[in-house]
Amino acid sequence: MKKQFAIIGLGRFGTSICKELYHLGHEVLAIDKNQKKLDEVKGFATHTLNVDGTDESALQKVGIRNFEHVIVAIGEDIQASILCTLHLKDLDVRKVWAKAQNDYHHKVLEKIGADRIFHPEKDMGNRIAEFLTSEKVIDYIDLSAEYSIVEILATNKVNGKTIVDLDVRAKYGCTIIAIKQKGKVDVTPNPMDPLYAGDIIVVIGNKRDLRRFQLNAL
Ligand code: ADP
Repeated sequence: MKKQFAIIGLGRFGTSICKELYHLGHEVLAIDKNQKKLDEVKGFATHTLNVDGTDESALQKVGIRNFEHVIVAIGEDIQASILCTLHLKDLDVRKVWAKAQNDYHHKVLEKIGADRIFHPEKDMGNRIAEFLTSEKVIDYIDLSAEYSIVEILATNKVNGKTIVDLDVRAKYGCTIIAIKQKGKVDVTPNPMDPLYAGDIIVVIGNKRDLRRFQLNAL
């Protein structure tokens, strides 16, 4: 069912939520006080509006209360995030979700009535830690804060499938650089050769993409 969302603050977090909701077919109003940010999401939002989220009367004028869901994705400017959340609750927006920068920010957002609070950086850090300690991940090398090379155990799910079938690059943005099969390492794996449960797949990519690959493909 199509829903209506408004997102205030189009930093990295706000923009990625905006794109995701829009791709899922929802109506998304993108709000930022910086026109450049709004121009960047044109094509991924139903409407864009240049409004300061701390200006209560401006929020009222654009009819923000007609949105069932409003997401406050202002991050760095904690004062603006708090003020904006407060106005939205005062204007009776039913569901106000807000991004918290730290635990103090979280506490204040909770006190003023935010209905759900996110910690995207912390959550992603925890999820990556969880991924790196997964039983399927045999070993890894961190290339940077974002990129790793990971050795992942192939499960029954991939038994008989080829690298082409897995479509790793297009679906996950990762690259398989080697396959360890029966103790032998093949550094130029043929994309048409089948993989078997128990093989070790050596993949390079962004940690988030590697996590998605491990969770969904293997
Ligand atoms: P991230 O860490 O997700 O990139 P940022 O804090 O860097 O988040 O980005 C927040 C966005 O919110 C920026 O695009 C900024 O222009 C916008 N923003 C900040 N304050 C306000 C405000 N008072 N009203 C509307 N948008 C704001």
